[in-house]
Amino acid sequence: MNRRKFLAMTAAAAAVTAKAASAATAIPPGQTGAPTPSTAPLPLGPLPGSRYPDSRLESAKPAATFGPNGFPAFAGTMAVERVATGFRWAEGPVYFPAGRYVLFSDIPNNRIMRFSEDDGHLSVYRQPSMNSNGNTIDREGRLITCEHSGRRVTRTELDGSITVIADKYNGKRLNSPNDAVVAADGSIWFTDPVYGIGGFYEGIKADPEQEKRNVYRVDPKSGEIRVVADDFVEPNGLCFSPDEKKLYVCDTGFTDGPQNPSHIRVFDVEHVGGKLVNSKVFADMPKPAITDGVRCDTGGRVWCSVGWGDPNEDGVRGYTAEGELLGKIHIPETVANLCFGGQQRNRLYICGSTSLYAVYTSVQGALKP
Ligand code: MG
Repeated sequence: MNRRKFLAMTAAAAAVTAKAASAATAIPPGQTGAPTPSTAPLPLGPLPGSRYPDSRLESAKPAATFGPNGFPAFAGTMAVERVATGFRWAEGPVYFPAGRYVLFSDIPNNRIMRFSEDDGHLSVYRQPSMNSNGNTIDREGRLITCEHSGRRVTRTELDGSITVIADKYNGKRLNSPNDAVVAADGSIWFTDPVYGIGGFYEGIKADPEQEKRNVYRVDPKSGEIRVVADDFVEPNGLCFSPDEKKLYVCDTGFTDGPQNPSHIRVFDVEHVGGKLVNSKVFADMPKPAITDGVRCDTGGRVWCSVGWGDPNEDGVRGYTAEGELLGKIHIPETVANLCFGGQQRNRLYICGSTSLYAVYTSVQGALKP
């Protein structure tokens, strides 16, 4: 070997070594940051000043039916409670009836929490969670999770192993899956805005590889991922009507500029072929507020979160299936998302910034979220 050839080889080896070293020092996705202090900054239990009927349950039609202020979804003895606290940003609640617990994400703390409703016990279910956001449950009782820093949708199997459901479309990485629902046929529908790659607080900053922020459907048999809606600014929370003939999808595009929507859209669902048709605006939010999460009850009413706007609007709104406002639940923090739980599915769990809130209702959540 001559000297020139030897030097060239050495230089090439050094380049390889340098590349490997640089890869080895990259921040691991899902890295856990500084812990949140474990002291409870907010008191648990019924909110201060609660007296029946709870003034936080406000009817849009005071003359209607029963309940405090006529809100038909509440009896007079139901009040809003704070059941857990100490999170940086609580999101994506899902209820597991067999275990009687709620799982929800604490996105900046990179963990999934578990609240057991039998004794109020709170613990960490998974950390790091890859900055998980939305969670839901499939018909087999398995956890489905959207991950910001994983940029994927996963399923936690009954043996605890994790299966990747979707991480790419058209050969390119997803943006940052945000929220998911599972239909009766096993198809998984999820939204893919860019919130989870916008910085290092709720994920890992990165440039989007997808041209658009789509809503996707994953086929239950083939595992094929297809776009079902591509005209959202930032698609976010979503849920089916109880008969699954309609899909509600939030657009929180207003966060990207005042010209953008802050509303819920509703589609007709063609399950054969997996399509969304007949898009309509279902409900506009009072800007600058946005709605991040949405759930239906068995009567087809639509319950959505409200936050980031006027503090008087922070909380939950209830609508008829026709889009008529029924009433509001006022929460003392910005609200991200909600789910029905409890053994009778009549307890509404609400993720509000640093705390998990709950209130019994006179309705029952649709069988699956
Ligand atoms: Mg969301």
